[in-house]
This record gives sequence, C-alpha cells and structure tokens, in this order.
Amino acid sequence: MDRALHEQILQTFFHCDPQAITGIFREFLNALIAEDTLPPVAQMEQNYETARANPEIHVLPGNLKDARDAVFPFFWGTDSWSSPLHLENVKGPANYASLIGALACLLKNPNLCTDTYSQRSNELEVKSVTALANLLFYHTKDPWGVFTMGGTISNMYGGRIGIEKVLPGAMQKGLGSAKLAGIVSAAAHYSNRSVAGWLGLGTEQLHAIPTDGKMAMRLDLLGEKLEELYSAGTKVAFVTATFGTTDACGVDDIVGIRGVIESVAAKHGQPVPQLHVDAAVGWALSFLSEYDRAANPLGFCPELLPLVHRAQQHALGLRQADSITIDFHKMGWGHYPGSAFLVNNRSDLRYLARDVSETPYFSEADGRRDPALFTLECSRPALGPYSVMASLNGIGMTGWQMLIARSLELAQRLKDRLEQLDHCKVLNLETTGPGVVWWVLPKGRNAKDIFARLEAGELPPAKFAGYAAEIRRLFDKRQQSLDPARDARLSFTTSIGYRPHGIDIPAWKAVLFNPRTDEAIIDRLAAGIEELV
Ligand SMILES: *Cc1c(COP(=O)(O)O)cnc(C)c1O
Repeated sequence: MDRALHEQILQTFFHCDPQAITGIFREFLNALIAEDTLPPVAQMEQNYETARANPEIHVLPGNLKDARDAVFPFFWGTDSWSSPLHLENVKGPANYASLIGALACLLKNPNLCTDTYSQRSNELEVKSVTALANLLFYHTKDPWGVFTMGGTISNMYGGRIGIEKVLPGAMQKGLGSAKLAGIVSAAAHYSNRSVAGWLGLGTEQLHAIPTDGKMAMRLDLLGEKLEELYSAGTKVAFVTATFGTTDACGVDDIVGIRGVIESVAAKHGQPVPQLHVDAAVGWALSFLSEYDRAANPLGFCPELLPLVHRAQQHALGLRQADSITIDFHKMGWGHYPGSAFLVNNRSDLRYLARDVSETPYFSEADGRRDPALFTLECSRPALGPYSVMASLNGIGMTGWQMLIARSLELAQRLKDRLEQLDHCKVLNLETTGPGVVWWVLPKGRNAKDIFARLEAGELPPAKFAGYAAEIRRLFDKRQQSLDPARDARLSFTTSIGYRPHGIDIPAWKAVLFNPRTDEAIIDRLAAGIEELV
C-alpha cells in the first residue's frame, strides 16, 4: 500500500482541521444568507433526467472542498423555508439554538442505542424527555420516553403498547386469530393508517370516528363504535386522540375520551385501550399552560388572552394520556428528526421490553436506563435530545410563550380578516393553533350561507361539487398571478377532516408558523383575496 497516500487520507478526513472546516462552513452560511435576499422559490431546477444515469464516484482521493462540491448544488437547490412568505404547511425555519445543539451532536456523533456507547448523551435524552413530559403531562411522577425517527414512529410505539396490553405475548406469538382494532378520528393524520398496517393490525382494522365542526372526535360515535366492536368480540388496542390536526388544528376532547373508553371497557369486562395522544403539531400549546392571564406579564393584547385560555384548557387534557407523540421538528422549530414518544408511567414500557438475551451485543445493558431494551430502532441519532435541550434552554420559557402566542395572534388576525368577506368562510374559527383553513368563492356568493346549507344537509353533493370546483379554481388563479417576492405562499387541502354528511370539504390553507411572518404579509394576503374575482 502507498503509505504516503494513506497518510494523506488520514490527515484530510480523520484529523480535525478547524480552519478548513470553519472556512467551508462559512461558505455555506454565506449561501444561506444570500438565499434570504431572494424570493421563496426553488433556486435551481431539479435534474432528475440524469440523476440515475450518472451516479459517479470520484476515482482519486480529494479533500474537504470536494466534499463541499459534491453537495453544494443540492444545498443551493433546496429552500430552507426561512422566508416569512412560506405559509404552506407545518414546516418552518429551524431555530439557531437547535443548530448549535445539532452541530454539537454531529461533532461527537453519539449513538443512543445504549449508554455504554453514548454516555452523557443518553443522560441528555433522559433530561430532555423528562423536561417535555413535565411540560405535557404536567409534573408527572415517573414519566419516560425516547426520541424516534418521526411522529409516525412515535405513534407506532403508542399502538404497540396498546396491542400488548390487550393481547399479552403478542410480541412473541403474533396476533394469531385475535380480532384487534384501533381507533382514531376522521381528521387524524394518515400516519396512523400506516402504523396500523405496519403493526400487523391491518389498515381496515383502524376505525375513523367522524368529527364535529371543531374537528374533534365525536364522543357519542366513539361510544357507539366501542360498543359495536366489543359486542362483536373484537379487542380495542388503542384509541389515538389528535391534539392539533395537521390542517385545521382541531383538538380531541381527551378527558371525554378517557371517560368513554373506561366506562365502555368496564361494561364489557375488557382492558382499557391505550390512550395515545398524537400531539405532533399541537404539543407546543403546553408552553402557555402556566401563563398568568390576569397579571399578563408579557403584555399580550386583549384579543390574545381568550386564545391563551383556550390553549390552557386544551393542554389540561394531556394529563389524561397514557402516551404522547410530539414533533419538535414541527412547532419546536427544531431540526429533523426531533420526535419524541413519551409515557406518563415508565412501567408501561415493560410492554415493549426485550430481555438481555435477545440483545446479545448489549450484554451489559441496564434495563433501568438503556433504551436498546425496548426501542424499535438499534442505532439512534442524538439530534433530538441535543436540538431540543439547546432550544428549550436557549429560548427559555418566556421566549416560547411569546413565539407560540404570536403564532396564535397572527392566525387569529387572518381568520378575522377573511371572515369579514362575504365570499369567504373560515372553516376553523374555533380551533386553537397556527393553521387557518377557509373558502374563497366568487364575489357575489354568500360563503357562510353555503356552508350553513352544507352542514344542514341541504346541499346535494353534485351542487356542492360545483362550489368546490370554484374554490379550487380561485386558488389556482391566485397561484398564477402571485408576485413571488411579496405574496404569501399557501397550500390547498382536499379535506379538512370534518365531513358533514360524508362530504369532503376542500379548503385554502395557511399556517402562521414562521416567526418572521408579520401583519403586513397577512394584510396583503387578505387584500389580494378581496380583489380576486
Ligand atoms: C406530521 C404529523 C405526523 C407525522 O409525523 P412525522 O414526524 O412527519 O412522521 C403525525 N401526526 C400529525 C398530527 C402530524 O401533523
């Protein structure tokens, strides 16, 4: 072997050269700053034509600049969503405290599989899941949790515990001939369907309970569904409540759900299903739990205080949950992946436990603190704990309260502006969160009246389809005429989750989630809609 060349490779790629690394990092930062001066559109068109034809690998060893050059066009061709005009979805700019945490993590590259390999990084995971659990379950006694690859997987943990609770030994024996079901609301995220499939339950065994006009699961229909399932000899493994639906920010009545599942299960002599809460989007409302509305120390405007009150009422429900999914990469403005699965009682994790004999490479694993004994994943990144703890303590409770409250304030401003227009109808006036969903119909139509007739069952589906087409056409019309440098970017949903008389309701959608979005952007959006015919 050419030892000199080998040595050169070691020097370049396995010795830290702070100057070379920070130099390249500065170049990336400069590109990021340049992007900020441009409108929020793809800066560089994709080139799928030859992406598969030319997957070349360089022949000779290069240097860190070659590494930079290998990714730079793709970095430049990716929008970081920092523009205040991005209102499309629950994706926002990552905060820079999270970046500091994430960089620290990448420099050490711990693997959270076991604490033998990741040492204090595992301790940091315990610290961050406990901080989040205290916030959500509210100073609970013995919580625990782990970071996962995303909200989908966190929901899967909740479902998995439920299966084991109602069918002990399923982890070893499988589901066999047992009849098992799970329950969500009709406005739940599609990941719950994926989870039902991947858990072996089958997507057809996941029952979606219709919601009311606030996008919350109807408790009467939940009770009926449970009766029907138990009477047919089916075991109900879990009920996954949604805390913040992805489009419309609906929140299920978790206290009410707790009451229904306990009473119906008791009546049929069945174990109570796991009450999992998918708070991927809505969890951050909990930052407002302890805000003193009377003293109002942060000087929130009077219109904001009732929204804070509503957030506090909703957050109380989380204390009834057995387990919760949160996505820090959504309303925490953290880096991906920053999802956590939290349990109120750490003893519930026994349903997932493997014993040391099943994890031979971790013979020294300690069941009291080694997640490898129950996680789905083996290797796990520590990006979640690092970015979460850095964000929580960098921004501080007061900072979080201001960020979340501001988001609610801006969403309310948009709702108010739109609802004043006769040809518009806001579809989630009563939900609490950053999302706004609404209709825009041609001028001259009374949108509120059309909505009232839809809810009353007075609109034949074909007639409604005509209105739905108008709502879509006007959305497309705005898309074609918008000024990318000044107009907010919106998205369109084909169903907000609430389906009166079984009809899917389409809507325009904006998520007031980017902390840099301001009143001027909202006012321009509303004015533009007023002018659209
Ligand atoms: C985004 C989302 C999920 C899925 O989370 P990922 O992190 O994208 O896997 C689950 N539930 C809700 C309500 C969501 O909004």
